Amino acid sequence: MTATVIDGKAFAAKVRDKVGAHVARLKADHGITPGLAVVLVGEDPASQVYVRSKGKMTVEVGMKSVEHRLDKDMSENELLEMIRHLNNDPTIHGILVQLPLPDHLDSDLVINSIDPAKDVDGFHISNVGLLGTGQKSMVPCTPLGCLMMLREHHGSLSGMNAVVVGRSNIVGKPMAQLLLNESCTVTIAHSRTKDLPDVVRQADIVVAAVGRPEMVPGDWIKPGATVIDVGINRIDKPEGGTRLVGDVDYASCSDVAGAITPVPGGVGPMTIACLLANTVTACCRANDLDEPEGLTV
Ligand code: NDP
Repeated sequence: MTATVIDGKAFAAKVRDKVGAHVARLKADHGITPGLAVVLVGEDPASQVYVRSKGKMTVEVGMKSVEHRLDKDMSENELLEMIRHLNNDPTIHGILVQLPLPDHLDSDLVINSIDPAKDVDGFHISNVGLLGTGQKSMVPCTPLGCLMMLREHHGSLSGMNAVVVGRSNIVGKPMAQLLLNESCTVTIAHSRTKDLPDVVRQADIVVAAVGRPEMVPGDWIKPGATVIDVGINRIDKPEGGTRLVGDVDYASCSDVAGAITPVPGGVGPMTIACLLANTVTACCRANDLDEPEGLTV
């Protein structure tokens, strides 16, 4: 079997188009421009790249983009004060603090100081609780993007066996919660899981969010299963230079799976598209307006 490639890049472009169309309507009909503020502390090169591309895409869909680049040595109180200011700014509907933060800053404290209604990353403890109890929340962008692709490919996911490999707070746990809310039978696997290959072989849907290059080989995959690869790992090429690979071995898995997301071009582009989707959703909720259809769960 040669798997259908789930093209996250093309799907993300469609999501951004939908966001852009809704932003245009908000401006024309209500005079409202959704605003996203991104806060970056320090000079982590990968974070700088993410923040730049988030800002660029925010502007491309017609939203207001504000970037706060702060010194790596800034105090926790200064950062909390900046977030208080953004919480109270009516032109800002989404606030994202780029992680990881420098060690002297308490990430949980900082994230939980964001107004939950503006928490477009969905990491605030209130949003975690709302998602966990199946209530309307801000949904973390990466799992939201994975779910959108799964829904687009399958329609209903009800009754499917889903295995999520990885139990992080930003990917694995919210992904499992979303799949449970879709009435999947969900297993969360992690580094202490026994017989991981056998666990993964039971899955109709496999979501790999581990951070280990090409860890999942094709012989762990049930024929016809759908494989969503969240991993982004940079590895050395034998001929020199580097390349990006996921957490699944794409060559062998795509021989067995029914559908698979590539790396790059799968989950990655959907993550930023979902950040924009969450910002427009937050803006609609803040203004008591109808939310755009198909951009959240
Ligand atoms: P974390 O390091 O926070 O979590 C990794 C998880 O994988 C842990 O739960 C860990 O288990 C589990 N794990 C590690 N080794 C094994 C193993 N040998 N067998 C089974 N489970 C294992 O990573 P994240 O969730 O933050 O990210 C995962 C991957 O997704 C990374 O490659 C990251 O770069 C990528 N990513 C991609 C995004 C995108 O936009 N596409 C966004 C966010 C992340 P335990 O808890 O027991 O230690």
